[in-house]
Amino acid sequence: MQLYYLEMKTIFFHYVILFTTTLTVSCQNNRYTSIPNNNYTMSKDSSKEINSNEEWKKKLTPEQYAITCEGSTEAPFSGKYLNNHDQGKYKCIRCDNPLFDSDTKFDSGSGWPSFYNPDKDSSVSTNTDSSLGMERTEVVCKKCGAHLGHVFNDGPKPTGMRYCINSGSLNFEGKEKK
Ligand SMILES: [Zn+2]
Repeated sequence: MQLYYLEMKTIFFHYVILFTTTLTVSCQNNRYTSIPNNNYTMSKDSSKEINSNEEWKKKLTPEQYAITCEGSTEAPFSGKYLNNHDQGKYKCIRCDNPLFDSDTKFDSGSGWPSFYNPDKDSSVSTNTDSSLGMERTEVVCKKCGAHLGHVFNDGPKPTGMRYCINSGSLNFEGKEKK
Protein backbone atom coordinates (compact mmCIF):
# COMPACT_ATOMS: atom_id res chain seq x y z
CA MET A 1 0.00 0.00 0.00
CA GLN A 2 2.82 2.36 0.93
CA LEU A 3 4.68 1.47 -2.27
CA TYR A 4 1.58 2.28 -4.29
CA TYR A 5 1.29 5.61 -2.52
CA LEU A 6 4.92 6.41 -3.26
CA GLU A 7 4.50 5.55 -6.93
CA MET A 8 1.44 7.77 -7.20
CA LYS A 9 3.37 10.56 -5.53
CA THR A 10 6.22 10.19 -8.05
CA ILE A 11 3.81 10.19 -11.00
CA PHE A 12 2.09 13.28 -9.65
CA PHE A 13 5.43 15.01 -9.15
CA HIS A 14 6.46 14.27 -12.75
CA TYR A 15 3.12 15.57 -13.98
CA VAL A 16 3.61 18.86 -12.15
CA ILE A 17 7.12 19.25 -13.62
CA LEU A 18 5.81 18.48 -17.13
CA PHE A 19 2.91 20.90 -16.74
CA THR A 20 5.16 23.70 -15.48
CA THR A 21 7.63 23.12 -18.32
CA THR A 22 4.83 23.19 -20.89
CA LEU A 23 3.52 26.49 -19.53
CA THR A 24 6.99 28.03 -19.55
CA VAL A 25 7.69 26.87 -23.08
CA SER A 26 4.33 28.09 -24.38
CA CYS A 27 4.87 31.54 -22.89
CA GLN A 28 8.33 31.72 -24.39
CA ASN A 29 6.84 30.73 -27.73
CA ASN A 30 4.43 33.63 -27.48
CA ARG A 31 7.17 36.04 -26.74
CA TYR A 32 10.06 34.87 -28.81
CA THR A 33 9.80 32.18 -31.46
CA SER A 34 6.77 33.70 -33.13
CA ILE A 35 8.37 37.07 -33.59
CA PRO A 36 10.85 37.92 -36.31
CA ASN A 37 13.94 39.35 -34.58
CA ASN A 38 13.91 42.61 -36.46
CA ASN A 39 10.33 43.29 -35.40
CA TYR A 40 10.66 42.31 -31.78
CA THR A 41 11.13 45.69 -30.14
CA MET A 42 8.69 48.55 -30.39
CA SER A 43 8.87 50.82 -33.42
CA LYS A 44 11.62 53.44 -33.54
CA ASP A 45 9.18 56.31 -33.11
CA SER A 46 8.14 54.89 -29.77
CA SER A 47 9.57 56.94 -26.91
CA LYS A 48 10.73 53.81 -25.12
CA GLU A 49 11.51 50.30 -26.28
CA ILE A 50 10.04 47.61 -24.11
CA ASN A 51 11.90 44.29 -24.03
CA SER A 52 11.11 42.50 -20.80
CA ASN A 53 8.11 41.03 -19.06
CA GLU A 54 8.94 43.17 -16.03
CA GLU A 55 8.47 46.34 -18.07
CA TRP A 56 5.21 45.10 -19.59
CA LYS A 57 4.01 44.32 -16.08
CA LYS A 58 4.43 47.97 -15.10
CA LYS A 59 2.76 49.30 -18.25
CA LEU A 60 -0.26 46.97 -18.47
CA THR A 61 -3.10 46.09 -16.12
CA PRO A 62 -2.79 42.60 -14.55
CA GLU A 63 -5.44 41.26 -16.95
CA GLN A 64 -3.83 42.83 -20.04
CA TYR A 65 -0.48 41.37 -18.92
CA ALA A 66 -1.91 37.88 -18.30
CA ILE A 67 -3.51 37.85 -21.76
CA THR A 68 -0.78 39.40 -23.93
CA CYS A 69 2.32 38.04 -22.13
CA GLU A 70 1.09 34.77 -20.63
CA GLY A 71 -1.50 33.72 -23.20
CA SER A 72 -4.42 33.56 -20.81
CA THR A 73 -8.05 34.04 -21.87
CA GLU A 74 -10.55 36.48 -20.36
CA ALA A 75 -13.84 35.03 -19.14
CA PRO A 76 -16.47 34.79 -21.92
CA PHE A 77 -18.97 37.68 -22.10
CA SER A 78 -16.72 39.76 -19.81
CA GLY A 79 -14.69 41.80 -22.31
CA LYS A 80 -15.43 45.48 -22.86
CA TYR A 81 -15.49 45.27 -26.67
CA LEU A 82 -17.82 42.27 -27.05
CA ASN A 83 -20.86 44.43 -27.77
CA ASN A 84 -19.07 47.44 -29.22
CA HIS A 85 -20.74 48.28 -32.56
CA ASP A 86 -18.97 51.60 -33.21
CA GLN A 87 -17.01 52.14 -36.41
CA GLY A 88 -13.23 52.21 -36.03
CA LYS A 89 -10.02 50.25 -35.60
CA TYR A 90 -9.02 47.78 -32.94
CA LYS A 91 -5.32 48.25 -32.14
CA CYS A 92 -2.80 46.25 -30.13
CA ILE A 93 -2.89 47.31 -26.46
CA ARG A 94 0.91 46.96 -26.31
CA CYS A 95 2.25 48.54 -29.53
CA ASP A 96 -0.72 50.27 -31.20
CA ASN A 97 -0.45 48.12 -34.36
CA PRO A 98 -3.84 48.24 -36.19
CA LEU A 99 -5.22 44.68 -35.88
CA PHE A 100 -8.89 44.58 -36.89
CA ASP A 101 -11.46 46.90 -38.49
CA SER A 102 -15.00 47.20 -37.12
CA ASP A 103 -16.30 46.33 -40.62
CA THR A 104 -15.15 42.71 -40.12
CA LYS A 105 -16.54 42.34 -36.58
CA PHE A 106 -19.49 39.98 -36.17
CA ASP A 107 -21.50 38.44 -33.35
CA SER A 108 -20.27 34.85 -33.07
CA GLY A 109 -22.16 34.04 -29.87
CA SER A 110 -18.88 32.76 -28.37
CA GLY A 111 -18.59 35.51 -25.74
CA TRP A 112 -15.45 37.08 -27.24
CA PRO A 113 -15.09 39.84 -29.86
CA SER A 114 -14.94 38.06 -33.24
CA PHE A 115 -13.65 39.20 -36.62
CA TYR A 116 -13.59 37.43 -39.98
CA ASN A 117 -10.38 39.07 -41.22
CA PRO A 118 -7.34 40.96 -39.87
CA ASP A 119 -7.00 44.62 -40.84
CA LYS A 120 -3.79 44.25 -42.90
CA ASP A 121 -1.10 41.70 -43.79
CA SER A 122 1.05 43.37 -41.13
CA SER A 123 -1.58 42.96 -38.38
CA VAL A 124 -1.30 39.41 -37.04
CA SER A 125 0.60 36.17 -37.38
CA THR A 126 -0.32 32.68 -36.18
CA ASN A 127 1.29 29.79 -34.27
CA THR A 128 0.21 26.25 -33.53
CA ASP A 129 -0.97 26.01 -29.91
CA SER A 130 -1.12 22.49 -28.46
CA SER A 131 -1.91 23.50 -24.87
CA LEU A 132 -4.97 22.26 -22.93
CA GLY A 133 -4.89 18.99 -24.91
CA MET A 134 -6.21 20.70 -28.05
CA GLU A 135 -4.66 21.68 -31.33
CA ARG A 136 -5.54 25.33 -31.89
CA THR A 137 -4.13 28.22 -33.89
CA GLU A 138 -2.92 31.07 -31.73
CA VAL A 139 -3.17 34.65 -33.04
CA VAL A 140 -0.43 37.12 -32.06
CA CYS A 141 0.35 40.73 -32.94
CA LYS A 142 2.75 40.64 -35.89
CA LYS A 143 4.61 43.70 -34.62
CA CYS A 144 5.21 42.97 -30.91
CA GLY A 145 4.19 39.31 -30.46
CA ALA A 146 1.39 39.99 -27.94
CA HIS A 147 -0.99 37.04 -27.56
CA LEU A 148 -4.43 38.10 -28.86
CA GLY A 149 -6.56 34.95 -29.04
CA HIS A 150 -7.19 32.07 -31.46
CA VAL A 151 -8.51 31.64 -35.00
CA PHE A 152 -11.00 28.98 -36.14
CA ASN A 153 -12.29 28.03 -39.60
CA ASP A 154 -16.00 28.22 -38.70
CA GLY A 155 -16.48 31.93 -39.44
CA PRO A 156 -18.82 33.68 -41.88
CA LYS A 157 -18.25 34.65 -45.51
CA PRO A 158 -16.21 35.94 -47.26
CA THR A 159 -13.23 34.34 -45.44
CA GLY A 160 -14.90 31.60 -43.38
CA MET A 161 -12.51 32.47 -40.54
CA ARG A 162 -13.34 33.43 -36.96
CA TYR A 163 -10.68 35.42 -35.13
CA CYS A 164 -11.70 35.00 -31.49
CA ILE A 165 -9.93 37.85 -29.69
CA ASN A 166 -9.62 38.95 -26.05
CA SER A 167 -10.88 42.50 -25.41
CA GLY A 168 -7.96 42.85 -22.98
CA SER A 169 -5.45 42.72 -25.84
CA LEU A 170 -7.20 45.50 -27.77
CA ASN A 171 -7.57 49.26 -27.73
CA PHE A 172 -10.45 50.64 -29.79
CA GLU A 173 -10.05 53.85 -31.74
CA GLY A 174 -13.37 55.13 -33.07
CA LYS A 175 -13.75 56.86 -36.40
CA GLU A 176 -14.63 60.52 -36.18
CA LYS A 177 -18.27 61.05 -37.06
CA LYS A 178 -18.73 63.27 -40.08
ZN1 LIG B 1 1.46 44.61 -30.69
